[in-house]
Amino acid sequence: MGSPTRQLILKVHSRCNLSCDYCYVYESIDQSWREQPNTIAAATVDRLAERIDEHARRHDLRELEVVLHGGEPLMAGHDVLAATLGKIRAAFPATRFAIQTNGILLDDRFLELFHEYGVRVGVSVDGGPAATDRHRRYANGRGSYDRISAGIARLMEPAHTGIYGGLLCTIDVRNDPGEVFEALLAFRPPRIDLLLPHGNWTTPPPDRERPLAYGNWLIQVFDRWYDHRPAETNTRIRLFESIIARLFGRPSHTETIGGERPGIVTVETDGSYEQSDALKTTTEGGPATGLTVGGQSLDELLDYLAVAAPYRLSAKCQACPVVQVCGGGLRAHRYSAENGFDNPSVYCDDLLTLINHIASRVRADLAQAAAAGR
Ligand code: SF4
Repeated sequence: MGSPTRQLILKVHSRCNLSCDYCYVYESIDQSWREQPNTIAAATVDRLAERIDEHARRHDLRELEVVLHGGEPLMAGHDVLAATLGKIRAAFPATRFAIQTNGILLDDRFLELFHEYGVRVGVSVDGGPAATDRHRRYANGRGSYDRISAGIARLMEPAHTGIYGGLLCTIDVRNDPGEVFEALLAFRPPRIDLLLPHGNWTTPPPDRERPLAYGNWLIQVFDRWYDHRPAETNTRIRLFESIIARLFGRPSHTETIGGERPGIVTVETDGSYEQSDALKTTTEGGPATGLTVGGQSLDELLDYLAVAAPYRLSAKCQACPVVQVCGGGLRAHRYSAENGFDNPSVYCDDLLTLINHIASRVRADLAQAAAAGR
């Protein structure tokens, strides 16, 4: 019997009220979202709840995180979200819930519901008004920062800090890293996720022609965070903490670093099982498995993925001095039309530079602490 799933990404709504130009769901080579029903059906949630119950009994599961996703998951509406949370909690009471949203539709009813089920709310925002409105716009071109920041402001109210999960920022290296970091910190998030824009060797990410643009951008944020934490802020940054964890042989908490984390499953609004959404940027049907909650159990899906999408590193990664930390980066970033995933990350130089920088900072601190007898 293989390992159980630890995290399930559940698409409850497949459309969005924004038209961000970098969105990997709508703007990528994979256009399968067009075939998806807008909202997950009650029967699909029922079947998924049965699958979770079956999986939990089989593995004597202690924990499972279900992340409500989209599209924009709040567009599914209060009743659908309430029913979905209720059915999954009934199937496996130890389920931890999270939701990733743009925050625009966040209202009192959603907040009440999220308190009832302990749903941690993550909001996507890229910094201040200019940085955010550069990409995160409505279909008519109007920026969305005002509405997004109003949603985050609700989460910052003392009554709601317990369900405030953090912020997700997609990096644009044209934005000043210090300004972005300060703008994000102003929202007092418990956690920040910094997301490298998706791209690969065939469809490179923006500004790829500028050497080390991402590595240097991230180093500036790291130094600011590392030098001032925790005196100024307790905000955690998952990418940096995962690199530090891997330097000490501890597990990473992001797919971007440390090798792939098996056991993450995506369920689309039509009930189909998929691999990571990031693979939408590789080929048409890149994340597809052909399996569904109606047809296969979660164990059958994991067995299928172990064969169809094994974790293999390129020769360059295998010989790399930081492979134990980096793990080859995100699978989607290793893709090329010529040889599939048998490549280092398209962000290889940036990751190497960032990891070496963080390692040297941490080692210097440890040496200083040892010299001081601490
Ligand atoms: S730094 Fe580059 S070569 Fe080394 S493991 Fe990461 S992607 Fe592979």
